[in-house]
Amino acid sequence: MTWVPGAAGGGFGARHLPYGAFTRGDAAPRLGARIGDFVLDLAAAERAELVLAGGSLCAPTLNAFLALGRPQWTAVRARLVDLLTDERHRPAVEPLLSPVSDVEPVLAWSPGDYVDFYSSEYHATNVGRILRPGQEPLLPNWKHLPIGYHGRAGTLIVSGTPVVRPCGQRRSTGAGEPVFGPSARLDIEAEVGFVVGVPSALGERVPTGAFANHVFGVVLVNDWSARDIQAWEYQPLGPFLAKSFATSVAAWITPLEALGAAWVPAPRQEPPVQEYLREEDRRGLDLALTVEWNGTLVSRPPFAGMYWTPAQQLAHLTVNGAALRTGDLYASGTVSGPERAQTGSFLELTRSGAEPVTLAGGESRMFLADGDTVTIGATAPGPDGTRITLAPVTGSILAPR
Ligand code: MN
Repeated sequence: MTWVPGAAGGGFGARHLPYGAFTRGDAAPRLGARIGDFVLDLAAAERAELVLAGGSLCAPTLNAFLALGRPQWTAVRARLVDLLTDERHRPAVEPLLSPVSDVEPVLAWSPGDYVDFYSSEYHATNVGRILRPGQEPLLPNWKHLPIGYHGRAGTLIVSGTPVVRPCGQRRSTGAGEPVFGPSARLDIEAEVGFVVGVPSALGERVPTGAFANHVFGVVLVNDWSARDIQAWEYQPLGPFLAKSFATSVAAWITPLEALGAAWVPAPRQEPPVQEYLREEDRRGLDLALTVEWNGTLVSRPPFAGMYWTPAQQLAHLTVNGAALRTGDLYASGTVSGPERAQTGSFLELTRSGAEPVTLAGGESRMFLADGDTVTIGATAPGPDGTRITLAPVTGSILAPR
C-alpha cells in the first residue's frame, strides 16, 4: 500500500508505476514515474541515490534506461515500489513528487523505427468489406502472417498534441479525376503500442519466446487516418500519407511487469501458422479500451481477442533479420471486437459514413470535424484483483493549413 496521498486503490497505484517524461515551465525534459495524481522526479531520485540505474534516469529521454534490459528494469521497479510504499522513505521521497497537473508531458522516448500491424480479424474483415465490397474480406495472406507496414517514427507525438487536418489527393468512387484538398474523412485507429528496449543484431531473428527480453512496456496509440487519401493511394504499396502526418502515443508507458495479471489465452489460429510464429503458450493482453468522441463514450474495443499476439508480431517483424533498435515502437493495428460498439475506428463505427453517430452535445458525426477531441483509454487487470488504468491518448483536430 502506497503512502502517496490518494494513490492507493486507484488505477495509478504503486503496482503500476508507468514511466514518462515531463517539463515544467522552460525547464528541460526530465523523466518521471506516475503514482496516483503525482509524478515522481526520477532524475532527482537518482541524483539523491534513492534509486540507481547507472545514471540513465537523469537523461531527458527513457532510451538509456530502455537499453538496460529486463533484469535492470525489474530491479529499478522493485526499488521504486519500495520507495513509494515504505513509510520510512517518505521524508526523502515526498519532496520529489509534483502534482501531475503541474507538469507538461513530452514524448518519453526518442523513437527508433515504427511499425503498425493489422491484427484484429474483426477490423480487417470490416475494412475488407468496405474497401473491396463483394469480395472475400480477408486477403489470402491474412491468417498466415501479421500484416504490417513501416510508419513514420518522426511524426509520433505525445498525447495532447493537436493534429492539423491533413491535405492530400482523393478521388470519389467512380469519379474521374482526383482532387486535392483537406481530408474529408479523417478518422482514428484505437491501438496498443509496444515499446522495444533491448535491440537485436542485424541478421538475427527474435523468437516469440524472447518477447519479454526485448519489449519494455505498453502505450495506447491513436493512428490518425485520412480514409479518403488512403483509399486513393494505398494500392499497390500500402498506407503512406494517409497515416504519416501524425500518430499519437500516451504520455506514460506501462511496464510489462505491471501487466502480469492481464495475460489471457489468445484466440485459436486456423490454419496452423509457420514454425517461427508458434508459441508454447499463446497469450494476449486483456486490455479493455474505451473511445471517447468529444466526451461521449462511443466504443469499447476489447484487446484480448486480437488474432496475432504481440510476441508473434515481434517475431514476424524480425524474421527476415531486420534489427531492433532501442526505442522502436510497434502497434497492434486497430482494435475492434465483433460488435459495432466495439470498433476502434469511425470507418467501422459509422459503417463508412453511412450511419452517423450522435454525440452527447447533439452533434451528428461520420468522421472528425475541426475542433473535435478523441480520447482513447484502457484498463487492465492488475495485481491482487486490482485494476490498473493505462494512461490515455488524446488529441484535438485543428483546421487545415
Ligand atoms: Mn493503424
